Amino acid sequence: MPELPEVETIVRGLNEELYGETIDSLEIFRSDPIIQGDPEFFNEFLCGREIQKVSRRAKYLLFHLHPDGGMVVHLRMTGKFTLTEKAGIPGPHERIWFHLKKGRVLVFSDLRCFGTLECVDSLEKWERSKKLGHEPFSQDFNAKWLRIRLKKSNREVKPLLLDQQLFCGLGNIYASEVLYRCGINPCRKAKRIKLKEWELIVDQTRKVLNEAIEKNGTSISDFRKVDEKTGEFQNFLRVYECEGKPCISCGMPIQKIVQQQRSSYFCPGCQV
Ligand SMILES: [Zn+2]
Repeated sequence: MPELPEVETIVRGLNEELYGETIDSLEIFRSDPIIQGDPEFFNEFLCGREIQKVSRRAKYLLFHLHPDGGMVVHLRMTGKFTLTEKAGIPGPHERIWFHLKKGRVLVFSDLRCFGTLECVDSLEKWERSKKLGHEPFSQDFNAKWLRIRLKKSNREVKPLLLDQQLFCGLGNIYASEVLYRCGINPCRKAKRIKLKEWELIVDQTRKVLNEAIEKNGTSISDFRKVDEKTGEFQNFLRVYECEGKPCISCGMPIQKIVQQQRSSYFCPGCQV
């Protein structure tokens, strides 16, 4: 599943390519990704509207449309967008074609079909209704707020970092990496984490996400490849899926544990 850096990269690529494009017509091959209204409504709503901007909120893609409204997309496991000059015959996993006025086709494909698309009258109203956690790059996401919010929490810190209602965007891979860089054991109780440590977590969360966005940045011009993990992406990980390998800092073997059905990786020497 794409994490925040991948979604951000996809959004940047789409924004660059689709700015000012008008949706001319739609071909819907499978309508179950459309979660609101019937396919005819979806079609009618989008046709003739211009894409002014593509942005991100949590892991949702927001298409800002002119004169009004928007389209909200969640890629889930395997959803993806590609842009082609000619559509030809639809591939086996292609769900919707968005024919653009200038001739290109924006293709939404989804192997497992968990991705969702919906049209909304107002993106602002949609955001308010979703009650999403703070964005990791916003000022609202800070150490003081985390300390106050979690000073009585018995939850372990690693699963907590994945709680999208607290703050959004940190998935399983990056949560392990962040805690490794902070020297914090994934099993520590949230209430035992000091303000200084929360400051580290906030700082490293932003650093790790920024680095990951930069690494993916090489494929911005070709966002189709974003979900294919590159060698660069693998090199960037210091603990995730490194079970048994020596820690680059102290040499102790990296350990794997399971917390709330998710794998966590950490160094028992460096993370206390
Ligand atoms: Zn270590």
